[in-house]
Amino acid sequence: MVKGKSMVSEEIELNHAAEAAGIGALESDMGEYIVQLAGEKPSHIIMPAIHKTKEEIARLFADKVEGVDYTDNVDALIQIGRNVLRQKFLEADIGLSGVNFAVAETGTLCLVENEGNGRMCTTAPPVHIAITGIEKIVEKLEHIPPLLSLLTRSATGQNISTYFNMISSPRKAGEKDGPSEVHLVLLDNGRSQAYADEQLRKTLQCIRCGACMNHCPVYTRIGGHAYGTTYPGPIGKIISPHMLGLEATSTMATASSLCGACGEVCPVKIPIPELLMRLREEAFTAPHADPAMVGQGAGYSWLMTSVWKGWAAVYRSPSLYGLATWLGSRFSWLMPSKQGAWTSVRVPLKPAGKRLRDMLRERE
Ligand code: SF4
Repeated sequence: MVKGKSMVSEEIELNHAAEAAGIGALESDMGEYIVQLAGEKPSHIIMPAIHKTKEEIARLFADKVEGVDYTDNVDALIQIGRNVLRQKFLEADIGLSGVNFAVAETGTLCLVENEGNGRMCTTAPPVHIAITGIEKIVEKLEHIPPLLSLLTRSATGQNISTYFNMISSPRKAGEKDGPSEVHLVLLDNGRSQAYADEQLRKTLQCIRCGACMNHCPVYTRIGGHAYGTTYPGPIGKIISPHMLGLEATSTMATASSLCGACGEVCPVKIPIPELLMRLREEAFTAPHADPAMVGQGAGYSWLMTSVWKGWAAVYRSPSLYGLATWLGSRFSWLMPSKQGAWTSVRVPLKPAGKRLRDMLRERE
């Protein structure tokens, strides 16, 4: 099987399942091919190998592709990948692709791409299997142009991608190319949970352009792999809890400064900061009956809730705040030197010996 780019297939780890069933699955998108060779996951939804330098890719090709010498010339590296993949397109029994938009009115599957591998996957092998999340279905063909325009401009800054494929059926009698079978797999995987809630439903507006990731101060510093989920960055933080449950993702929504950059650049106006606040609430309020999400209350602890309530009370009252800082500065020596995960990589937290207000008073 040769695969075009499909984050949904990453989401369900299709490659592993295919290989367990004895079906070799080769990624044909250049970025995906690189991360597959390296045995890694994509670190960005549009640019899967953005975390690698050209020298690292050169070393990887020299080590893993038969008969290839080290070169860090980018054109030569692309050519190496292309030579490997061309042959595979001809040999494959199945081409698998993702779908950017599926049109209910005409049954058309739309694929946006820049490399041409999507077109090869969906025309050269005798069977084409397309896989997509249920949110990618639009009602009419006339809904496609504005969405396509938003996607390419926000994803790569292009007015239009190099290729835009519209597939509406298998090969018809008299046609020269195209697969003899086309199958469409529609995946839910937690999406209907999001759909059922009026606020959380906005998550499903996402067209997977990646703009929120590119502008996120957290993502741009820690990179995609640090999230440990298929979708990293702001979109990952709001969609992964539906796919994996809040038990596995309760802290994801807290990895945000709520600066709002993601919500501002999102071309389909998903209020990401608002959704992050909602997910924090879902994860950290006490479990209750009839929850909107699987794993509601997974991060709840009465101790933590009490500590925050106490903190809020102290911060609301100037006299309590003054007393707390006075006690903190006098008894800072009582702070433990081991403070859980914090001190595994950092020095222990300790209140300053003198309060700011005391220093200012002394200066006067
Ligand atoms: S949430 Fe918005 S900005 Fe982020 S990938 Fe989806 S559409 Fe793009």
